[in-house]
Amino acid sequence: MMDLRHWIHGESVSARDQGWISVTDPATGQVFARCVAGNSSDIELAVQSAKSAFPAWSQTATAERVAALERFASVVDAHRDELATLESRDGGKPITRAREVEIPRVAENLRFFASALRHEHSDAFTSSPEVIHWTHRRPRGVAGCISPWNLPLYLLSWKIAPALAAGCTVVAKPSEITPATATRFAELSGEAGLPPGVLNIVHGRGSEAGAALVEHPDVPTISFTGGTATGKAIAKACGEQFKRVSLELGGKNPFVVFADADLDQAATEAARAAFSNTGQICLCGSRILVEQSVLPDFQEKLLKATAALRVGDPASEESQIGSMVSEPHYQKVKQAIESAPGTVLCGGGRPADLPERCREGWFLAPTILTDLPETCSTEQEEIFGPVASLRGFVDEADAIRLANATSYGLAASLWTKDLDRAHRLVHRIEAGVIWINAWMIRDLRTPFGGAKQSGLGREGGIESVHFFQEPAGVTLRLGSSS
Ligand code: NAD
Repeated sequence: MMDLRHWIHGESVSARDQGWISVTDPATGQVFARCVAGNSSDIELAVQSAKSAFPAWSQTATAERVAALERFASVVDAHRDELATLESRDGGKPITRAREVEIPRVAENLRFFASALRHEHSDAFTSSPEVIHWTHRRPRGVAGCISPWNLPLYLLSWKIAPALAAGCTVVAKPSEITPATATRFAELSGEAGLPPGVLNIVHGRGSEAGAALVEHPDVPTISFTGGTATGKAIAKACGEQFKRVSLELGGKNPFVVFADADLDQAATEAARAAFSNTGQICLCGSRILVEQSVLPDFQEKLLKATAALRVGDPASEESQIGSMVSEPHYQKVKQAIESAPGTVLCGGGRPADLPERCREGWFLAPTILTDLPETCSTEQEEIFGPVASLRGFVDEADAIRLANATSYGLAASLWTKDLDRAHRLVHRIEAGVIWINAWMIRDLRTPFGGAKQSGLGREGGIESVHFFQEPAGVTLRLGSSS
């Protein structure tokens, strides 16, 4: 059993009086850790620590902040296997995914924002020979970073790294469902030499620790990734205090295949887009829309590609898909499948041939539904599990109409060899992230975020750093005045 404690002012801190939350390995159903259930008093302690560290950290020379982030990245690299094992166990995700994709991205986040900081510059210009204007960017103080359970350390570090680069100090609240790697990450920040108070982690439930962080008057900036309903509550709370807030929320993303696409490649990628990380990625393509003339052919290829995915024990090097993150989430997704008013083409229940060790685990087979009414909740609401729907469209106009036919607008993946058409679609699709003949190729320099109910603001590139800074337009008049 591991005890996961807060990290405040460079030290591991126990819960004051609120008790613990059990942490379960969802692939085996076994509790393997407990994490402290923090509340407003722990948030208060962490915010005071971050406030006390802010003057020195915000004044640290750029080269020193860059070096600190790069050191931190190297320490994360050195602990990659340990962090990957923890991440896999905490969330039921394949060890290969944790080790090859998610934990390396944590170090990459730190290095990317160190490098962004190194190359940051501000425009200066003159409006007359003796007058110079420039933009001064001041770190905004203590940053609150709140993250979900699906890509735990990958997303938490995607917020922490730019905040630290910007010169802010941080209080972060990871998901209470997957708190393990955040705890280790915080300890590693100490090994990397981050000064006490620069990075603080407070564990606990969203309704207690999370809400207390959002409402704290000394935290002027909130970066949140999670569900749309939570995002709305956070937006309201931030509005009351005019806090700056970034919201990365849910999605119901279209994966649109035209008849002229490479259907084999599109089908393989559609299965990957729908079921990677057990469908628990905000960018997953959960609505597969296919031009009617090739629908039967594509359906056959998609079912074949889905059947080829290896679902199994996340600890096995062979598994491509692991378990759901928790029993409650498994029950929610299973209920969504059972109440769907359509036809199950594959999956729908527990996968076959799970090893003995996973008998009590929360596994669902990749599931494809069809014949769903356009407006039913299965087609409209984010399910966030291994569930995708398949539907035909008649022409380009119909494809655009269907792609935009939900309240979300996070991502879209378009498959066609006709680049004129692809370009027309880019103008019409309501999404913050668009891939053409691709899915999930990310470059950290590009803007990332959602339209409509998928969020507010953009992360990525230098914008992520600027989010944590307050710009001031400065004007200097030279020469003597009389
Ligand atoms: P969630 O909204 O339930 O929780 C996210 C985080 O917010 C957790 O740390 C939680 O403890 C905290 N929280 C909950 N209520 C809070 C409150 N009132 N005040 C402050 N904090 C609170 O989401 P989840 O179930 O952990 O994650 C799944 C969701 O995240 C999905 O909807 C998914 O689409 C979304 N997501 C979005 C992106 C993106 O970049 N757009 C990325 C990953 C996940």
